[in-house]
Amino acid sequence: MAKKENAVRVLFASFEVDPFFKSGGLGDVAGSLPGYISTDSFDIRVIMPKLAQIPDEYKKKMRFLCSFEVKLAWRRLYCGLFHMRRGGLDLYFIDNEFYFARQQAYGEADDGERMAFFSKALLESALHIDGFSPDIIHCNDWHTAMAPVFLREQYMKCRKLKNAKTVFTIHNLKFQGIYNEFLLPDVLGLSDTPAERQLRSAGDSINYMQAAVRYSDVITTVSPSYAGEICTPYYGEGLDWLFRERRGVLRGILNGIDYKLYDPKNDPALPACYDADSIAKRTANKKALCAELGFSYDPKIPLIVMISRLTEQKGLDLLKAILPRLMEEKLQLAVLGVGDRAYEDAFRGCAAAHPEKMAAVIKFDPALSRLFYGGADMLLVPSRFEPCGLTQMMAMRYGALPIVRETGGLKDSVVPYNKYTGEGTGFSFANYDAGELFDCIKTAVKTYSNKKAWKQLQTNAMTTDLSWRSSARAYRRLYRELLK
Ligand code: ADP
Repeated sequence: MAKKENAVRVLFASFEVDPFFKSGGLGDVAGSLPGYISTDSFDIRVIMPKLAQIPDEYKKKMRFLCSFEVKLAWRRLYCGLFHMRRGGLDLYFIDNEFYFARQQAYGEADDGERMAFFSKALLESALHIDGFSPDIIHCNDWHTAMAPVFLREQYMKCRKLKNAKTVFTIHNLKFQGIYNEFLLPDVLGLSDTPAERQLRSAGDSINYMQAAVRYSDVITTVSPSYAGEICTPYYGEGLDWLFRERRGVLRGILNGIDYKLYDPKNDPALPACYDADSIAKRTANKKALCAELGFSYDPKIPLIVMISRLTEQKGLDLLKAILPRLMEEKLQLAVLGVGDRAYEDAFRGCAAAHPEKMAAVIKFDPALSRLFYGGADMLLVPSRFEPCGLTQMMAMRYGALPIVRETGGLKDSVVPYNKYTGEGTGFSFANYDAGELFDCIKTAVKTYSNKKAWKQLQTNAMTTDLSWRSSARAYRRLYRELLK
């Protein structure tokens, strides 16, 4: 798309970008949102590390642009910049084999140094992209958190960057980049600067995300409810005081899902494709899913699934607590997920004791997840906290009704069933309480037996706009506001 002369220029930085590298929701968002933001009035370019994990088919398509030096305290480091055009977007890849050609993308002993390098290198890259001076630098999660700090402390004399505004988006508040203070002089080179005070946190530690929240012009997170919640101690992960302080520039913009990738009308993983006008075709998918899980198919018995990382955040303690009671109900339950051993064992144990009612599929399998969305009747998401959550949206798009706890993005995306008006796109409960989850499932199961009400709910869910369209509009509005 030809960009207008006065287009808003955005550099969108993320450590993960699907399909190059993804370990969770961040990769999904960075892989799809920029494409929806891009118009002839918005020139948005994406930058990520050239990770060893990127498949060769993509590496082959990258073109070397230039190389330059990046300074990190006393270090003088090589940085290569590669480029690719894909889906109408310009994508840039930061090359440094020492930092990015690792066995695993995360969890290295020097992650603090690697992310500092990425943050610095993305600013340096902006200086080396011909004809592109970013008006906005949009950083995502702690991996990029040092960029707004370096920008203000070290780049204010650069013509290309001195007027750039910064947006910092929090997808996951659990990981903040907390390190020992020795990184201040040795890696960041920021001792005895104003940044030192903004970085220092408890004891002798420093916190990258804390500094980003202080230095960025706007902070966003991925749902309006979560933006409010992180200002409270229960959800704030130790930074609630800071979010309260920065409330004036804190926004919540709900994520969307990629309608091209997640489309029940055109999904090769489904035996039968369908849309909101042909919901009955889902039966073939449910039959296939039951066969896969070793269940007998019975249209009167609802099939409830969960597709999730198996970690405490996802409300698995609640589900574990009510498993014995659920096994006495007329329903089938299947979990697709990998994660903490204790949960894997609990679900496997229950499945072994009740093979006709419970299945535990302990693996990460995107194709199978689509059969789950397209064949199941309900999807459980009883999370303790959920910044946005994508599975409930995918389920709605595929006509499986979500059963969620009213928190974060779950609250913002699922309208609870109102039996008097027939309104709703799912079922919800308020408190982190196993009894409430059980009652909510019972209500959903009871509603399932009312075929007319159920079909209405499925139609409501499938016709809800969960695409990136309105979120992309909100980001464009935000960029424009920042430049006023
Ligand atoms: P989070 O990012 O906290 O893990 P989200 O709901 O935002 O949770 O995103 C989860 C994504 O990962 C969804 O696309 C979901 O379908 C996918 N997913 C989770 N577990 C599995 C699994 N075992 N197999 C396939 N896909 C999975």
